[in-house]
Amino acid sequence: MTNQINLSVLSSAKSITAKCEIHGIDYQKHDFFGRGYHGICPECAKEADQIKFDAEQKAIKASNDAKLNELRSERIKSSGLPARFAWKTFSDYVPTTPDQEHALAVVSGYAKNTEKLKRGRGMIITGTVGVGKTHLAASIINEIIKPDNSVNAIYVTFSDMIRHIRSAWRDRSVDEQSLINKYSSASMLIIDEIGVQFGSDSEMVQMFEVMNKRYGEMLPTVLISNLQMDELCKLLGDRIIDRMREDDGIAVLMDWESNRSAS
Ligand SMILES: [Zn+2]
Repeated sequence: MTNQINLSVLSSAKSITAKCEIHGIDYQKHDFFGRGYHGICPECAKEADQIKFDAEQKAIKASNDAKLNELRSERIKSSGLPARFAWKTFSDYVPTTPDQEHALAVVSGYAKNTEKLKRGRGMIITGTVGVGKTHLAASIINEIIKPDNSVNAIYVTFSDMIRHIRSAWRDRSVDEQSLINKYSSASMLIIDEIGVQFGSDSEMVQMFEVMNKRYGEMLPTVLISNLQMDELCKLLGDRIIDRMREDDGIAVLMDWESNRSAS
């Protein structure tokens, strides 16, 4: 038992007073088993702890941000946007004419007005093929889906939506209402290519059901068509058009020459 060291005697017996050069305060350094004096200024210790704590918090935040960004990307990918357009934003849309500048300003103003979107404000975009309508639609989705919200959006062509809802007619395992609900409950629904094929009466019944539910829930819808506005109104009927007009609904005309060849 002769080798046993009495620690309390050792530490209290062998200590020295040191002065912190940074804080100018005195503190104790203690002999560590004869291997020199060790100790740290209490203020320096506090600062070191704070730096460690800040670094940990920063790492936690970075990891959370990365997860939220990943979820945002997933929501954009699952929106149904074609891959070519999925990541297009308003800043990628470069207007070369006053008309294009106007269209960009109106559509981006629409997407950025969160308060009006919450009240279900809708928008109709009409214009010829290849003028950038789908680009702007994708930009809306990229604008409203943020890492810190839970917004989900659906982009679908009119014929795909109807075909999907009607798949319930053949497949008994899915019911039509749940398919309609998918479209009627999305935070944002963008229906493209309206009027590419002639809409039959029963297609319009399904379209109206989706639109009417969204209207009731105050969810915004964007309709996109190559038709002239009067043709589109005739096709969709007053009941749908009236709902689109409510709450400051917007109509945008994009009827310049196609720029698809240039892009
Ligand atoms: Zn110090």
